Amino acid sequence: MINKPKGTIDIRDYEARVWKYVEEVIDSVMEKYNYNYIRTPIFESTELFHRGIGNTTDIVTKETYDFKDRGDRNITLRPEGTAGVVRSYIENKMYGTHNLPVKVYYNGTMYRYERPQAGRYRELSQYGVEVLGSNDPMIDAEVISLAYNINKMLGLKDSIIHLNSLGDKESRDNYRQALKDYFKPHLDDLCDDCKERFSKNPLRIIDCKIDSKKDYFKDAPNILDYLNEASKGYFDKVCEYLDLLEVKYVIDPKIVRGLDYYNHTVFEIMIEDNNLALGGGGRYDNLVNELGGPKTPCVGYAVGLDRLVMTLINKKIKLPIKYNVDAFIMYVNEDEKKYAIYLSNMLRMSGFVVETEYTNRSLKSQFKRADYFKSKYLIILNSEDLNEGLITIKNNETKEEEKIMTEYLTYYFDEHIEDDKYECLEEQE
Ligand code: AMP
Repeated sequence: MINKPKGTIDIRDYEARVWKYVEEVIDSVMEKYNYNYIRTPIFESTELFHRGIGNTTDIVTKETYDFKDRGDRNITLRPEGTAGVVRSYIENKMYGTHNLPVKVYYNGTMYRYERPQAGRYRELSQYGVEVLGSNDPMIDAEVISLAYNINKMLGLKDSIIHLNSLGDKESRDNYRQALKDYFKPHLDDLCDDCKERFSKNPLRIIDCKIDSKKDYFKDAPNILDYLNEASKGYFDKVCEYLDLLEVKYVIDPKIVRGLDYYNHTVFEIMIEDNNLALGGGGRYDNLVNELGGPKTPCVGYAVGLDRLVMTLINKKIKLPIKYNVDAFIMYVNEDEKKYAIYLSNMLRMSGFVVETEYTNRSLKSQFKRADYFKSKYLIILNSEDLNEGLITIKNNETKEEEKIMTEYLTYYFDEHIEDDKYECLEEQE
């Protein structure tokens, strides 16, 4: 037996339906906000993500899947979506459209060579948005509210945004220095990762899972005390606009989001009673420039679909997911089977969800299968009836049975099968 590779998952059955539903909601909300769908390659040139061994200005700090292709090119499976979108923006000269900001969203698989654990995979899926070409706090607020509203549309009423500001370069430089001064006497006591962070990226010490529990962390400098006037003004506007958009948020100075390219707004999308972030993002005004494009202020976020789907299922959120079929067509002999083939095609093309028998099982087994699919109606074909132009229909809930003229079947279903096709997740269990 060949097993799936470590850190990957099969998404199937009911979970797969939830997954598809979530994607439909994302597509439909994005349409309302006028964000265009973008599909960039799953593999990119390695240099898009990594600038060289041990370089802290890497676009990602993730362990990636890197390989040489047969043409000796260095290739990396994308670990996140932003870099590819930014590359595409520059390569396709999207900045030349006089139509800024460009507002796009993506949805796809990402690859990270991480230690797999519950909710953490090597192949993961994210949907995300990027807005390129505006430095108005209005767009930061819109992007955050978009993430919040998608959760709301999915029925996650208790999502909350953890919001922070990293300010501009001056504010961040001052804060970085303050952190170094503060942690210097504790350097020996910090974990190995933080010892490295101390010199390379001290902001990341703040969100360290290990060290942040230590006593002296309580009095560590707070970024918000280091924002200069301009940065503070920007942050206040984001908050003001978020209030207008009725987004529930808390200011959380522990959100630093690690990467060098973030400035001003950073945020994570959380569920109130849970520590797990569904996603996160922020403003990155220098990345386009760093990757060779014109200076372009940007903001975006990514949400993990695996975690989003898992949260909906764990919380037993009612979702309008169709899981039953409208009609199951049953037959025994070859003539009836031919009619079943014709009829299933005709009904499906008329918009009904139809299942039938494919392995010549007994009628008894076919009844069982129809129940398995929670079929609303059973169409029981019988040669004698068919010769007279009749067809037997049984309502599988009321068990009422009637014979109707075959040509009336679609009218009959039009009348009887309504939008109550939709059942909820909770009732499915
Ligand atoms: P990041 O791109 O690291 O900021 O992650 C954004 C979101 O993607 C997280 O909040 C998770 O929901 C999801 N995510 C990140 N890494 C993984 C992973 N290895 N497996 C599953 N989901 C992930």
